[in-house]
Amino acid sequence: MEALKRGDSIPELPEVETISRSLQINLGARITKIDIKCAGVIRRRDFEPEEICGSTISSINRKGKFLNFIFENGLELIIHMGMSGRFYMVHEDEEILAPHVHVIIHLDNKKGLVYQDARRFGGLWLIRDSRGFFSRLGREPLSDEFTAEYLARKVKKRRQAIKALLLNQSIVCGIGNIYADEALFEAAIRPDRPAGSLSASEIGCLCKAIKEVMQNSIQKRGTTFRDFRDGYNKSGGFQDYLKVYGKTDQDCSRCGGIIKRKKIGGRSTHFCDKCQK
Ligand SMILES: [Zn+2]
Repeated sequence: MEALKRGDSIPELPEVETISRSLQINLGARITKIDIKCAGVIRRRDFEPEEICGSTISSINRKGKFLNFIFENGLELIIHMGMSGRFYMVHEDEEILAPHVHVIIHLDNKKGLVYQDARRFGGLWLIRDSRGFFSRLGREPLSDEFTAEYLARKVKKRRQAIKALLLNQSIVCGIGNIYADEALFEAAIRPDRPAGSLSASEIGCLCKAIKEVMQNSIQKRGTTFRDFRDGYNKSGGFQDYLKVYGKTDQDCSRCGGIIKRKKIGGRSTHFCDKCQK
C-alpha cells in the first residue's frame, strides 16, 4: 500500500466516531489524576489541568474530527488527534512502553486514557464552554441538517474544486482526504470539477455518497494505514474496502480504468478518470 502522504489526516470522522463509541464504557467514571508529560500539547487552558481531577465524565461525543468530554461540573476537555495521534484506554496496571505518550488521564474505574501523538499536530483543550470553540464547524455529514439543498447552496457559483470544498471544515466537518476521494468516486464525480458546475442530481448523489461512505467506515471501525487505533488501541478495518484512496495505478473496481493520482488544492487526490465525470 502506498505510504500515507503528508497532510493526510487520520483520524477523520469515522475514526473519531469509532474512538468515541469505544470510550462510552467510561461514562460515570471519575478522574483521579491527570499526568501531563508534555505541556506543549495543551492548546488552551481555561483552567488548570488539576481542576478536572475529581470530575465525573457525563458525556463523550464527537464533533467533526474532535472528541469532546463533558464533565458533571460543566468543565470540558476537547481532543484532536492531528495527523497521527491516538487516544485509547489501558488498564491501570498496564505498563505504557509506547513512545510519544504525552498525557495519561487516570480514572477511578481502573482505566487510564492515553494520548499519544508522534507528530504533535493534535492537542488537548481545557475549556469552560465549548460553544464558541465549535461554532465555526460546518454541518455534520451524518446529521439530518446535511442535505443536498444545503450542499447546493454551498457549491453555488464556486470555482474551487469540489474536492477542496469538501475538505473545508466550516462547510461540512469531519471529511478528510480519504473520505473525500472515496465519496467522489462513489458519486462518479471528478474531484477537480469546479464545485459550482455540479448539477442538482450530482449534488444529490454526492450528499448520499458522503453519508454512505462514512457509515460504512464506522461499521468497519475506521481506516488504519499506520497510526489509527480505536479506544482499545486496535486497528480499524475499512482500509480493505477503499476503492480509490491509496490505489494509484491499480484497476478501477467499477470500470476497469486506471486509478490516477493528482494534486488538488495541495492534497494528493485519487480518482478514476474514466468513470468519474
Ligand atoms: Zn472507473
